[in-house]
Amino acid sequence: MDEYGNSGEGRATRRDEAVRAAVEQGLLGPDSPIVGLLDATGIRESAAELRAAFAEVTAPGTPVLHAFAVKATPLVPVLRLLREEGIGAEVASPGELALARAAGLSPAETVLDSPAKTPAELREALALGIAVNADNPQELDRIDGLARSAVSRSPLGIRVNPQVGGGSIGATSTATATSKFGVALRDEGAREWVVRAYLDRPWLSRLHAHTGSQGIPLPLMAQGVAETYALAEEINRRIGRPQIDTIDIGGGLPVNFASDVTAPTYAEYARALREAVPGLFDGRYGLVTEFGRSLLAKHGTIVARVEYAKSAGGRAVAVTHAGVQVATRTVYVPGSWPLRITAYDGKGRPKSGPEVVQDVAGPACFAGDLLAEGRALPLLGQGDYAAALDTGAYYFAHHYAYNSLARPGIYGFVPDRAGGVRFATVRDPQTLASIVAESGGAHAGALTTLHAPGSR
Ligand SMILES: *Cc1c(COP(=O)(O)O)cnc(C)c1O
Repeated sequence: MDEYGNSGEGRATRRDEAVRAAVEQGLLGPDSPIVGLLDATGIRESAAELRAAFAEVTAPGTPVLHAFAVKATPLVPVLRLLREEGIGAEVASPGELALARAAGLSPAETVLDSPAKTPAELREALALGIAVNADNPQELDRIDGLARSAVSRSPLGIRVNPQVGGGSIGATSTATATSKFGVALRDEGAREWVVRAYLDRPWLSRLHAHTGSQGIPLPLMAQGVAETYALAEEINRRIGRPQIDTIDIGGGLPVNFASDVTAPTYAEYARALREAVPGLFDGRYGLVTEFGRSLLAKHGTIVARVEYAKSAGGRAVAVTHAGVQVATRTVYVPGSWPLRITAYDGKGRPKSGPEVVQDVAGPACFAGDLLAEGRALPLLGQGDYAAALDTGAYYFAHHYAYNSLARPGIYGFVPDRAGGVRFATVRDPQTLASIVAESGGAHAGALTTLHAPGSR
């Protein structure tokens, strides 16, 4: 445990209080059987830890932009809160850029990465002055064209794939030999092409790599950063001046989903990087980071009411309102994305009692819709609540519309002065009218009035 209380005890206590208060205040109940809860205190703490970790290892005066990977938790109030804590935004689509702008982020606090930027997206980013990392030679061609036709304040760079290898989860490993992201640096001729690209374009001032997300061990992440740094050094040497002035090291710090402990910490990662790549921190390079999951995951909780408690083939099964619609990765790939589940009683108090091996099922109509299979927990009964922990990133903000299940409301919380809990709405629950509208409700006759020539 360090000065920030990374044992997570404070967080666990706040979470239990919030679940109880959500039931007491009617946010959760028979008619609103699922919510997402966000611990605003915890989010602020993680942001402060991130800033402190890099402040400790960088030379005084080094420009550092921590850009939150918006895809992890694409919610405007979250982006606004992070901005207040000194954190910018990494966006990867027109939608994410719109969210960042709605949250009040300035172009200087925003970075655009994505493997499929359209000409219009690039034009807008350059007009706004947002930093852009070109993914590939064709995209750099487009940027060349735009740079010729207009002046832009956008800091521009190239994303490289150091091809250092994958981690334990294929889908989140971005630095494999055949990854779709960036210029694959070890491919024949690629390194020379990158060096040439900078030699020919004095306005290219950044270099970017993101070695992977959940499942990548720290030494492999550090190796990806080290290779990126070595390339920047080589380019600047060949050009004879420090043309690359900023290195974007991406995000990807893994999250501990097994307990409340924060591990690894930002401080551990920053120190590991300084050890592996001391030159990166001596003040010659500005830094951009793009952490997502590690900033938000541990501050979100999905709480769902147990609608029915049944038994099948000798197995206890709690049928809850949280399943594939809010925990898509866990339901489809349970081996890679297990979630901790805690049991609360009907008043939202932690449930005790002997543990029973049970399934915690979701509401969707397919057999595999399980939040947890064969999990030992105090026996969940009808009207109890099951909470899926560490779901603040890539879970309830990533709704999957299976069975037209409604997006749940999301509420931020803080302790109040009287020992209670204050909530604020982050996102309203989706209404049935909105489900109909988003499902073609305005075009009900579209297909029946569409006839091929000669048919009726
Ligand atoms: C997804 C992504 C991130 C964030 O990854 P996390 O594992 O959530 O920290 C950062 N940069 C890029 C380019 C990404 O695609």
